Amino acid sequence: MTFQIALAGNPNSGKTTLFNSLTGSNQKVGNWPGVTVDKKEGKLKGHKDIVIEDLPGIYSLSPYTMEEIVSRRYLIKNKPDLIVNLVDASNLIRNLYLTSQLLELGIPTIIALNMMDILEANGDYVDTKRLSELLGVRVVEIVANREGGLDELKKAIIAARNEKIYPHPLTFSHDMERGLAEIRNLFAEDLNEDFARFYSIKCFEKDEDMMADLSLSPDKLTKIEEIRQRFRESYDDDVESIIITERYDTLSGIEDNILRRKPIKWTKTDKIDRIVTSKYLGLPIFALVMFVIYYLSIATLGTNATDAVNGFFENILAPGAANILDAIDVHPAIVGLVSDGIIAGVGAVLGFLPQMVVLFTLLSLLEDIGYMSRVAFVMDRIFRSFGLSGKSFIPIMISTGCGVPGIQASRTIENDRDRRITIMTSTFMPCSAKLPVIAMVAGIFFGENQAWVTFSFYMIGILAVILSGLILKKFKSFASRPAPFVMELPEYHIPRLKSVVREVYNEASAYVKRAGTIILLSTIIIWFLSNFSFSLDLVGDRTEDSMLAHLGSLLSYIFAPLGFSSWQAAVATISGFVAKENVVSTVGVLLNTSVDTTGTMSLLEGFNIIIGDSVAGYSFLLFNMLCMPCFAAVGAIKTEMNDMKWTLATIGYQMGFAYVISFIFYNIARFVQTGNFGLSTGLVLVAIILMGYLIFRKGNYREE
Ligand code: GDP
Ligand code: MG
Repeated sequence: MTFQIALAGNPNSGKTTLFNSLTGSNQKVGNWPGVTVDKKEGKLKGHKDIVIEDLPGIYSLSPYTMEEIVSRRYLIKNKPDLIVNLVDASNLIRNLYLTSQLLELGIPTIIALNMMDILEANGDYVDTKRLSELLGVRVVEIVANREGGLDELKKAIIAARNEKIYPHPLTFSHDMERGLAEIRNLFAEDLNEDFARFYSIKCFEKDEDMMADLSLSPDKLTKIEEIRQRFRESYDDDVESIIITERYDTLSGIEDNILRRKPIKWTKTDKIDRIVTSKYLGLPIFALVMFVIYYLSIATLGTNATDAVNGFFENILAPGAANILDAIDVHPAIVGLVSDGIIAGVGAVLGFLPQMVVLFTLLSLLEDIGYMSRVAFVMDRIFRSFGLSGKSFIPIMISTGCGVPGIQASRTIENDRDRRITIMTSTFMPCSAKLPVIAMVAGIFFGENQAWVTFSFYMIGILAVILSGLILKKFKSFASRPAPFVMELPEYHIPRLKSVVREVYNEASAYVKRAGTIILLSTIIIWFLSNFSFSLDLVGDRTEDSMLAHLGSLLSYIFAPLGFSSWQAAVATISGFVAKENVVSTVGVLLNTSVDTTGTMSLLEGFNIIIGDSVAGYSFLLFNMLCMPCFAAVGAIKTEMNDMKWTLATIGYQMGFAYVISFIFYNIARFVQTGNFGLSTGLVLVAIILMGYLIFRKGNYREE
């Protein structure tokens, strides 16, 4: 009696290769009856009584292709004694999908686990012993194209002839098994146990071709349809898909059991990212990095250069220009305009250029290395936990350079509400125009600690965004769920000098250009207003008679509750609306000197008149940093909002927010200093309660 073997497997699993090795030249080639699918038959080398049938390559036993129809017909009609199922080990689950269907036939099976060389090259490992136990089949590892494992396979075939082992088909979910058992009971008397599970599943799948074999009565067919319908309803899926899902679910459980993938090798980038983007360390590391950056640029490297530049303007250029102009008999007013106005004002801004260059360099280095995208990743997590879109952080990060491109970058946020919040809040960050203001005030009042002050404004910027997010999200017009933000983190790499240099050059030249245009113009206006009275007389030393002093005095009442009540401080603040550097140049003009960060005595005296002390100075910074941005940024807001109402709402919100925050800060600081509880301390309590209410009141989430 001959022993019939069917060789079954997916296309490209190596069947032809194996078939040739097993049979040698002893092959018969023909066609399957009625179709043009190749049929190959051969005898196992050295065993005339063992016939191997090479089935066409198939992915399943469904009637989807001619190959599948031919194969399953053969398996059921001829019922071979053994199936040798070729499985591509490097593509395990997909191949076992066919295996799972072969097992349902109840025919003894050997799994020839092919392509073991590829699996090993990948560094993966398959537990064949476990696979054999789970499926009730013999498993042999082979490398068909190099005849590897062929002897073991032959031995297994002989063993299978001597001792039949029946496979264990996959066990599906509880519900599914119950359903299949019900179907099976319906045709129990029509068919012996052979292929029972196979047919039950085919009935469930409504595979008409296979069901025809059973010649079921109409009432049994109705019952089967009722079962199907029950499943369709409870799984909300079609019957074939239900079975496919059951198979893959079970197979993935088996894969977990038998396949061990080589642990993914951590690249350097992965190792760094595990720390840099970690849940707990990500933020502290980011804060540390920013502190170091501000420390280096504002407090150490940059300061010396800034002092040198200021010294040049103050001690060489200004008196030099004055001398030359005097010598050629220029009107004293013009001499004043040039030396005390233009050189003092524009010079004060240019004086900060070295610090800016150091800062731009460090920031663009971080960007180029790839660190900034990690920061966005870390902040995404934090922002989303506050109900803000992580995407907001990109515009906010860009705004630390300049608010205009920052605001424009908000375009990438699809959700209108999130986009508006981002536009309204990104300019809370300290941009490169605000930094000289911070550096000036910090240098004068905080000396050694100026890096902390500068750094604090970076953190305050982020906090202001988060607080505003919490407040604004509670309003109907902003309520929405934040969309998660998926991004690819690039590999870290050595910074490219060229791109860093280009970046720094662009930023620095933009800074200088602003000093030479809008700042110059504003400086001339400020000088004019501060040197002439309304009757257009030169006021000389009696600055308090100037137009600017009168205008500033009117405004000073507004800022008095924030701790800076001088007309000069009010004027400086207002001039900052045009361009933030104007705060510096205006102070420079008003003090008739370019500002020196070392804080010489005379400057401190001048500043004490204008601002007061360090508490008032910090409060002055708080308001100036958080209030409406410069005109250019307001223009960008108008363009991006594309709506006047929203633009005004933005400015209004920023002004109100800045005012309340510096009011709270200033008065709490004073209360801590003096212990006096007064009207303003009471108002602070009211302000805090109001803020608390706005932040913590119940949200108004509305699904999009
Ligand atoms: P079939 O479509 O199932 O008949 O597969 P083939 O026998 O035509 O083989 C497909 C390809 O896989 C051929 O290029 C074989 O040389 C190659 N192949 C077969 N077995 C192995 C193996 O164990 N390892 C590797 N690396 N390649 C194999
Ligand atoms: Mg082939």
